[in-house]
Amino acid sequence: LVTITRLIFTVGKTEQWKAPILPELDIDNISHKLHDDPETIQMASRDYGHLTHEFPLAVFRPSSIDDIVTLIKSSYNSFAPFDIAARGQGHSTHGQAMARDGIVVDMASLRKQRNGVAISVSKDPLMGHYADVGGEQLWIDVLHATLEYGLAPVSWTDYLYLTVGGTLSNAGISGQSFRYGPQISNVHEMDVITGKGEFVTCSSQKNLELFHAVLGGLGQFGVIARARIALEPAPKRVKWVRLLYSDFSAFTKDQERLISINGRKQKNALDFLEGMLLMNQGPINNWRSSFFPLSDHPRIASLITEHSILYCLEVAKYYDEQTELNVDKEIEVLLQGLAYIPGFNYEKNVSYVEFLNRVRSGELKLQSQGLWEVPHPWLNLFIPKSQILDFNSGVFKDIVLKRNISSGPVLVYPMNRNKWDDRMSASIPDEDVFYTVGFLHSSGFDTWKAYDAQNREILEFCRDAGIMVKQYLPNHSTQEDWTNHFGAKWMKFLERKHQFDPRMILSPGQKIFHKKL
Ligand code: FAD
Repeated sequence: LVTITRLIFTVGKTEQWKAPILPELDIDNISHKLHDDPETIQMASRDYGHLTHEFPLAVFRPSSIDDIVTLIKSSYNSFAPFDIAARGQGHSTHGQAMARDGIVVDMASLRKQRNGVAISVSKDPLMGHYADVGGEQLWIDVLHATLEYGLAPVSWTDYLYLTVGGTLSNAGISGQSFRYGPQISNVHEMDVITGKGEFVTCSSQKNLELFHAVLGGLGQFGVIARARIALEPAPKRVKWVRLLYSDFSAFTKDQERLISINGRKQKNALDFLEGMLLMNQGPINNWRSSFFPLSDHPRIASLITEHSILYCLEVAKYYDEQTELNVDKEIEVLLQGLAYIPGFNYEKNVSYVEFLNRVRSGELKLQSQGLWEVPHPWLNLFIPKSQILDFNSGVFKDIVLKRNISSGPVLVYPMNRNKWDDRMSASIPDEDVFYTVGFLHSSGFDTWKAYDAQNREILEFCRDAGIMVKQYLPNHSTQEDWTNHFGAKWMKFLERKHQFDPRMILSPGQKIFHKKL
């Protein structure tokens, strides 16, 4: 490949430089799968965040897992190894799936090649039900394929057009996590191509160090080629309830009470629990879901004006033909004694697929208005339960209200630590219960800096106030920040990197390690 002059820029700053020459791939039969036409390079230098742009030398479009093995081996064995990043859907917000001067592996092209053959469902009487799923597959396709057998995974993300490999590299969280754990807690086995180009099958019985490293491992240890996902009988329908609170302490107390009933087999447990803020800065219904009837918007709006912030508790209980008769009673019992504002409870009854895929209609609407492909200066945090009230008064009630910039959805909901496996790479607070808070901002191309400044102010406030936050979908750039992020797990993370990707080839866009020449 020839030397290519490229532009690299972060929003607001443009700089020109000469990219180095890509080392010749020694394996002739995959060279033609490298693409460096401007359109393809542009695609790989963008993500959902639209904040960072890193230009790769080329994009690799594999037709098979063997192609990825060959590519990684050829870098690993090279005198001058080149960076390689798997790109799922590029739904990261800070360039995590990019590879400056390296090769981006476009997992979507593998998905197209393996259309219909990379999701297989097994009903195993001994092992339980599971699906073997290509790492490049989308969760929406996993849902549809498993439902054909009356089965489904138990742990989800709010949005299903994400790849299996991408969410397992982070954790994969949603309202089911308090009961079933994150998606990484529901994987039996994986095939992984390590940074040495070795194809390894791993599980908690076999090659367990790699298994634990990869789950929540930010793409640092290998490319997930296949994951075996636990399945359970799928429900048919969902009772979905929202309750409004003006008092944060009552809201979190009720959330914590509800997630304390969390046994996987416990019939009286909820199936889903989340929460969000309602403020004057944003619409009452947003792209994540339109729920409140239009006729109620005026009275909700006047309550927001009175209190500045309302807190919306969101719960769901699944049911099918067998459990239909009991579901109303079960919800009634669960919600008894909760301290929401009387008269501000809302209910919907929807199909299971409609519930899981609830964000899609909002996405399509925004796409049609040209408002999906815009900057997303997101900040996602994990916060220990003991400090969530301080977070509310310092961040929601102070920084967010004072700055008064129009806001995207702000999510707040708790999870149970015992549903996570501490041997995995994902880094979470050291308390039995911790909250996730997601500031899911959308902004204009010229207004994203105000959100970025707010995000920085929030992080600085937490640091100064001693609130022990961890970033989810982390965005750090210094060694010190990464060391703090992983805390007691950092040395393990380093050891695993040296073991599985010793030449520091994989997922450079996370900005954790720099390639060793
Ligand atoms: P990418 O962004 O393409 O990749 C993410 C990282 O994983 C990169 O470092 C990449 O190199 C690496 N990677 C990708 N594929 C593989 C693979 N096969 N093997 C190894 N490494 C790989 N997250 C949640 O947990 N819960 C949510 O509810 C949720 N909702 C979201 C809603 C929206 C609208 C969006 C845009 C994102 C949401 N996310 C959520 C975040 C999402 O989990 C991350 O963006 C995640 O990275 C998955 O996106 P992706 O599949 O496009 O991966």
